[in-house]
Amino acid sequence: MTDYYDLTYSELREKLAVIGEKPSRADIIFPVIYGMNGGSLTDSGLKKETLEKLSGNFFCGELECISTLTSETADKFLFQLRDGNTVESVLMKHEFGYNVCVSTQVGCNMGCKFCASGQLKKVRDLSLSEMTGQLLAVRKKLGQKITGLSIMGIGEPLDNYENVLRFISVAMYQKGFDIGAKHITLSTCGLVPKIYELAGAENPVNLAVSLHAPDDELRRSIMPSAKKYSLAEIIKAARYYSERGNRRITFEYVMLSGVNDSDECAEKLASLLKDINGYVNIIRYNPTENPPFTCSPHERIMSFYDILKKNGIGVTMRRELGASVNAACGQLRASAITDRKGVNIP
Ligand code: SF4
Repeated sequence: MTDYYDLTYSELREKLAVIGEKPSRADIIFPVIYGMNGGSLTDSGLKKETLEKLSGNFFCGELECISTLTSETADKFLFQLRDGNTVESVLMKHEFGYNVCVSTQVGCNMGCKFCASGQLKKVRDLSLSEMTGQLLAVRKKLGQKITGLSIMGIGEPLDNYENVLRFISVAMYQKGFDIGAKHITLSTCGLVPKIYELAGAENPVNLAVSLHAPDDELRRSIMPSAKKYSLAEIIKAARYYSERGNRRITFEYVMLSGVNDSDECAEKLASLLKDINGYVNIIRYNPTENPPFTCSPHERIMSFYDILKKNGIGVTMRRELGASVNAACGQLRASAITDRKGVNIP
């Protein structure tokens, strides 16, 4: 039996052909299973024999939500997967719509020191159905269309490249979630070869690069995975991505007090990013349990912001929608594991 949600539209067409059904039935099935009231094909107009054949070969899987944290501006969901592992999603409630941040892996091997997920280590990649399942479950609870997708929850999306690309194609399917490429952002810590691959992919989406430091030495001290690719290589790849798709790149920068927030860091960052079609998104550090860092004070953040501006670099500051629901990636999962095992995540 195959989970419908483990198939892209074209894969469903192929599977239907294999069981002797017309591939064009996918045009009926996909809108139903991904529609707002989705799931049941009973009223789809398909003949009884076809429905029986389909139910003998396919099923609609669902993710089990085991915990939620709700606030006015964001809801956080903890899902239990079939093998007992857990992942998180966050629903951000903006004035202009609803954005869902999904996870792509159980844990993450990138080991960023400011991130709760990086301390949990990667267990495995998520399947397509485990990613679409997050969107389906959040939309079911919300009861409204999801307008934006951030692929920046637990995990490094480009380390689960094929499944993430398949997921993007499902999220964009017009009779389903219908989220346009312009409203999808994928965040990477900088897996250079995959950035080039994504630039040539069928559905290139917005790219966010987690920089967090303006030079290699500092970056490697807080992002161990940064040892593999230098900032020069990452910026070159980001520039290529931007020019190929005419897209503005987001450079994420988390403010860690006394670590990466000096005026000198801001000057270096400005010179690193000059002449690139991009902007810096300054993020206030959202401390986890036993935090290894503290967030930079407001005045320091403003000084950093002003220097970037003065140097002609576009800057935004991420609204703290998620802070009240522990929305630093991996926090809900980390605390659930802590509760279960009765130990603290290091
Ligand atoms: S910030 Fe992203 S890439 Fe780094 S450890 Fe956390 S989930 Fe992984």
